[in-house]
Amino acid sequence: MNTEKVIENLRARGIEAEYYESPQQALDALCAEICGKRVVMGGSVTLRDMGVFEALKEHNDVYWHWVERSPEQRQIECRAQVYMASANALAETGEIVNIDGTGNRVSGTMYGVECVYYVVGVNKITPDLPSAIERARHTAAPLNAKRLGLSTPCTVDGKCRDCRSGQRICNVLSVTMGKPGGVGRCKVLLVGQPLGY
Ligand code: SF4
Repeated sequence: MNTEKVIENLRARGIEAEYYESPQQALDALCAEICGKRVVMGGSVTLRDMGVFEALKEHNDVYWHWVERSPEQRQIECRAQVYMASANALAETGEIVNIDGTGNRVSGTMYGVECVYYVVGVNKITPDLPSAIERARHTAAPLNAKRLGLSTPCTVDGKCRDCRSGQRICNVLSVTMGKPGGVGRCKVLLVGQPLGY
């Protein structure tokens, strides 16, 4: 795993990227950058474990996929200024890969916000795009299905069988290959510790 190469390749794709030794350093950087904004956070074990919601809501209007919201608040979410997510995999070549069941996270990172932030632990790094997709489908998705207590085949033995379950969480696969033209900025905070799945 070569974190310098990842940073270099992300920047070459128009995606801002910084490396932080610890989750706390990354959290401090987020708090320093994001103030007075309407922030929407996708469901993420990484963001949960770092305490991002609790930290950002001190100085921002924050909506999180994992916190109950009213229908009115869900409408407000569509007008987010900042979107926060992690990634299921990050290729050393600079592509960011995510798998979504509902599509909220994927759509939130694609269009219409001032800035998208990805917070990614080094455990998500893979050598290239094929291995990143492999990781997202065969490592991250089964672990997330198990965490959610779903009745999908992968929760039995951790192996994806490309199921047709009604509870399938692998409905959308996104590959961010460069900063989307429809967002102002896109930034990856790469953290030098394992975070999330
Ligand atoms: S496609 Fe089905 S079996 Fe495969 S990881 Fe997703 S939910 Fe699990």
